[in-house]
Amino acid sequence: MSEVEKLYEGKAKIVYATKDPDILLAYFKDDATAFNAQKRGQIQGKGEVNCQISAWLYQYLGEKGIPTHYIDQPEPTQMRVRAVKIIPLEVVVRNIAAGSLCRQTGLPLGQALTEPLVEFYLKNDELGDPLLTRDRIFALNIVTPGQLDRLKTLALEINQYLQEFFNACGITLVDFKLEFGLDRDQKLLLADEISPDTCRLWNRDESDPQKRVMDKDRFRLDLGQIEAAYQQVLQRVGETFTRQNAN
Ligand code: UDP
Repeated sequence: MSEVEKLYEGKAKIVYATKDPDILLAYFKDDATAFNAQKRGQIQGKGEVNCQISAWLYQYLGEKGIPTHYIDQPEPTQMRVRAVKIIPLEVVVRNIAAGSLCRQTGLPLGQALTEPLVEFYLKNDELGDPLLTRDRIFALNIVTPGQLDRLKTLALEINQYLQEFFNACGITLVDFKLEFGLDRDQKLLLADEISPDTCRLWNRDESDPQKRVMDKDRFRLDLGQIEAAYQQVLQRVGETFTRQNAN
C-alpha cells in the first residue's frame, strides 16, 4: 500500500486514496480505544474481525435496499468503499438501556425501551462527542431538516434489519452507532463500520450480565476474553450470512 496516499488515520482505521477519486481503501487496525481515547490498547485480530463483520453486514443491508459505501473486501483487513464526505454526527440507535443512556437518565441497565431510541451526537473528540438536540443540529448547520428526517428513517430501518439478523445469530442487539456520508452527487450513504466496536451485543445463551457481553464493553470494562468474544460474533455472523445467502 506504499504507493497510495494516506488520507486520514483515525482511532480504528486508516483511509487511503486510490487511483479512482470516487473509491477509497479503509484499513482496519487492531488498535482499540475507549472513553474518548483515554483508555488505549490492542485487540489481537480485531482489524480482520471488524472488517469481515462489517463487510457481511453491509452486503446484507445493501440487499435490503440500504445505500452503503461498501464495494468489496480485497484483503481480510481492507475494504474498498465509495468516497463520501462524512457527516459529523454519530447516530446511535438503542433497543435496550445501556451505557450513557443509563448514566444520564438513571434507566436501569437492560431495561427494554418501548420504542427504539435514535440519538445524535456531535462527532468531535475535543468536545467529548456531546449529545445534540434537533435545534442544535440546525444551529450548527450540520444537516438540513430533510436530511435529518432521512437519517432517522434510515437508522430505524437499519435497526429493524440488524435486529432480525442478530436474532438469527442468537445475539441481542442492545444499541449501536452509525455514521453516514454524502457522495459526490449528495447521495446519503451508510459509512464507517458496524462491528463489535460500534454495537452492544449480548449473547442470548447467557443471562449473566458480564458473561453475555460480546462487544467492546469487554475492553471498556476490563471483562477479559475480548478476542474470544469478537471471534464468537464473527463465527455467528458468518454462519447466518452464509445460511441466508444459500436460501
Ligand atoms: N459508540 C461508538 N462510538 C462512540 C460512542 C458510542 O461506536 O464514539 C457506540 C457504543 O459502542 C454503543 C452505542 O454507540 O454501542 C451507544 O454508546 P453510549 O452512548 O452508550 O456510549 P458509552 O457508554 O460507550 O460511552
